[in-house]
Amino acid sequence: MNSRRMGVLRHDWGVETHETFEELLAELPPRRAAFVAEYLVDKNGARAARAAGYSEHSARAIGSELLTFPDVRAAINAGLGRLINRSLVDADAAVQRMWDIATADVRELVEYRRTCCRHCHGEGFGYQFTTQELAKREADARLEWSKRESKKLDDVFVFDRLGGDGYDKRRDPHPECAVCFGEGVEDLFIHDTRNLSPAAAALYAGVKRTKDGIEVKIEDRQAALVTMFKHLGLIVDKQELSGPNGGPVETKVTYEIVDPAPIESAPTEHDA
Ligand SMILES: [Zn+2]
Repeated sequence: MNSRRMGVLRHDWGVETHETFEELLAELPPRRAAFVAEYLVDKNGARAARAAGYSEHSARAIGSELLTFPDVRAAINAGLGRLINRSLVDADAAVQRMWDIATADVRELVEYRRTCCRHCHGEGFGYQFTTQELAKREADARLEWSKRESKKLDDVFVFDRLGGDGYDKRRDPHPECAVCFGEGVEDLFIHDTRNLSPAAAALYAGVKRTKDGIEVKIEDRQAALVTMFKHLGLIVDKQELSGPNGGPVETKVTYEIVDPAPIESAPTEHDA
């Protein structure tokens, strides 16, 4: 909790204390504590007095009087400080989230890559296998050869390794590849979402399996940007009003003379 902000409020109310809201509330008689809790809901003294169980009849007067008690005011003051702090924290978090959504790097979620083709890094740009693929291919060929019926004495096992092994689809295309000419092949890569940065995590809105594959969903970046711009005052909502059929708005002003009603005065520093 930000005690400096609370301190400012306390000063405004003319009450100095270093106790927390809970401590101040606990020191109050139960009905006064209930009054404070209710008052913090809508700052209406009369309603709070009624809700706390004071007489319906004189709720307004009791509410006003309670607001002059230093112990009540100190508790309300601490409660207000807490409410303000909480809403500031909420607002900060909301702005941070919008900023994250608007600025996150989408490539942290999904990447379009162009990686090497099967020939890029093969010997003589021949078809390249992974080590496992080549081993299996060779074993299969050897089996096939051993089953051959018409084997002569000088019939030796021959196996074409083509571009050899060592294929790794993550490698970059070879600029001089005789097959893809350095353009490689396209690959769509979806990152593991468990280790995203906070910004990318804010942008990420889940995945959906569709008949065409996996759909990665993201939050509305456009909406987040507009919200940020409005927050920064870079965009101001502009509304144009017109009357029937696009004509000017018709205005009619009426005056009514009423008896001035007595104004209920809010507590000021002098009441303390
Ligand atoms: Zn290639």
